[in-house]
Amino acid sequence: MRFVFLGPPGVGKGTQAERFSAAHNIPHIATGDLLRSAIADARPVGLKAKSYIEAGRLVPDQVIIELMNDRIQAPDAKSGYVLDGFPRTIAQGKALCALLEKNQLTLDRVLYFSLDDDTLMERIVGRRSCPVCHAIYHMRYRSPEQDGICDECGAALVQRKDDVPETVAERLSVYKTETAPLIAYYEKKSILTEIKADQPPEIVAEKIEQAIH
Ligand code: ADP
Ligand code: AMP
Repeated sequence: MRFVFLGPPGVGKGTQAERFSAAHNIPHIATGDLLRSAIADARPVGLKAKSYIEAGRLVPDQVIIELMNDRIQAPDAKSGYVLDGFPRTIAQGKALCALLEKNQLTLDRVLYFSLDDDTLMERIVGRRSCPVCHAIYHMRYRSPEQDGICDECGAALVQRKDDVPETVAERLSVYKTETAPLIAYYEKKSILTEIKADQPPEIVAEKIEQAIH
């Protein structure tokens, strides 16, 4: 099972991919989480990515493609995965396609999550993230049991540096110019399904299950 969760920042890809991964027993591979871990561990790929992430820009394709080539071919990804935040440019989409073809594999489906900009902004600015296990919370819509503490691992939750309104505006603009063209790219391949994400997580999760069956 190989799926791509595509859509603007804050639409709920990570939240849904986390649930989907547990329900279908496949790894949730999120480029943003991989990059943030690399920054925290001061690995070379993290050092290359840091300034782009903080500015709300995309990390160069070459860096991401190299990172994902390795991750997608790791042993735990043999039976499939859900990709969250990759591909994010046409070049990345083509690189993924080439890698799959080389291994005689295909994507099962690309789910495109859509939502209006005001709601995206509200979701992102209220997001709180666990820097250790990557669990996702929201001040209003998904608050942890104990204020500021991750339910899953007990770490202190943080607001990501790039989740402040000025950087979010840049990220939404970058999404429209660089990532949104992937919608037409996958539509042409007849593997895209749009999921309207303006409902509670449980309802969005039901729509995902309907879309893949
Ligand atoms: P993405 O991975 O697309 O950037 P996230 O999954 O991190 O998005 O979700 C962004 C924020 O919105 C998080 O704070 C999350 O808790 C919240 N959220 C996710 N899905 C929903 C939903 N269906 N309704 C309300 N809030 C949501
Ligand atoms: P995310 O966690 O998906 O919101 O990603 C956070 C940031 O990481 C983005 O704003 C980019 O700077 C960077 N990033 C994540 N995935 C990619 C990607 N596929 N291509 C380029 N940059 C990425």
